[in-house]
Amino acid sequence: MDQNKNLAELLFPHIDKTPEYYEALYPQRQLPEGARVTRFAPSPTGYLHIGGLFGALVDVLTARSTGGVAYLRIEDTDKKREIEHGADEIITSLAQYGVCFDEGAAADGEAEKGSYGPYRQSMRKEIYQTFAKDLVKRGLAYPCFCSAEELDEIRKAQEAEKADMGYYGSYAKCRNLSIEEIEANIKAGKEYVLRLRSDGNAENKITCRDLIRGNIEMPENIMDVVLLKSDGIPTYHFAHVVDDFLMGTTHVIRGDEWISSYPLHEQLFRASGLKMPKYAHIAPIMKLDGGENKKRKLSKRKDPEQSLDYYRQEGYPPLA
Ligand code: GLU
Repeated sequence: MDQNKNLAELLFPHIDKTPEYYEALYPQRQLPEGARVTRFAPSPTGYLHIGGLFGALVDVLTARSTGGVAYLRIEDTDKKREIEHGADEIITSLAQYGVCFDEGAAADGEAEKGSYGPYRQSMRKEIYQTFAKDLVKRGLAYPCFCSAEELDEIRKAQEAEKADMGYYGSYAKCRNLSIEEIEANIKAGKEYVLRLRSDGNAENKITCRDLIRGNIEMPENIMDVVLLKSDGIPTYHFAHVVDDFLMGTTHVIRGDEWISSYPLHEQLFRASGLKMPKYAHIAPIMKLDGGENKKRKLSKRKDPEQSLDYYRQEGYPPLA
């Protein structure tokens, strides 16, 4: 136990706050019974498209019809894929279409609205690290020093053994490093990521109670996924858990490409001891193509109507 505390101090000497500190800083929202708190959480890795706009509208209408709150959170943790002025473009497009949030990120140079911010993930590094430190303290997360080559070797071994791919179980080389080994690696300047120590068992099933699709059974997560990247910035998985908890989200409404990550998200909420919101996964916008019953997802490459520019150019008024 003390080993874990020492490890937490070793990895996060600069973090002096606790999850309780942030829970007190962002107290539970005082809202009428049944009020829903939703968020639209785009990543500025591309322009807002019709699917995103639809999701944002669902968020706003869901909150508004229940006397709740809809807020905008910019998920800008992937600096490599971010496009220039991406967040500002999204914010401007939403406003052009009259999709207005009660709280959240504002265009560059303007003040954010709301007391649960900052609403840009890049400004919340210390908050994520506080929750990560707590996981390390409780033995639920550990540093992984595996290089790209080592990860490649693991992949090859898994291919040869026809095992599931990923960093888990006996393939997770850094799972049981001693604190002395970790200290030596850090002293040697080796880079590391922070991983979840998954307690999942693939034989066990969990149920995702999706508000749209109903109950979906899925195997528990067994992967020791990355929580913090080597620059200390969180992955989406970890960041959204911390944020949706602290920002008081009651309903996560998101694209159904995230359903398969649900078991991991459920595990992360449980490990962090945080109350999980309800989830609703919405289908992508489809297009009829080649016959009455032939539907397919709108494609960024093939379909101009994926882009909001198309509607502007064709003269559709925003209300339509
Ligand atoms: N940043 C994620 C995305 O753009 C958000 C998913 C979510 O709404 O939780 O796909």
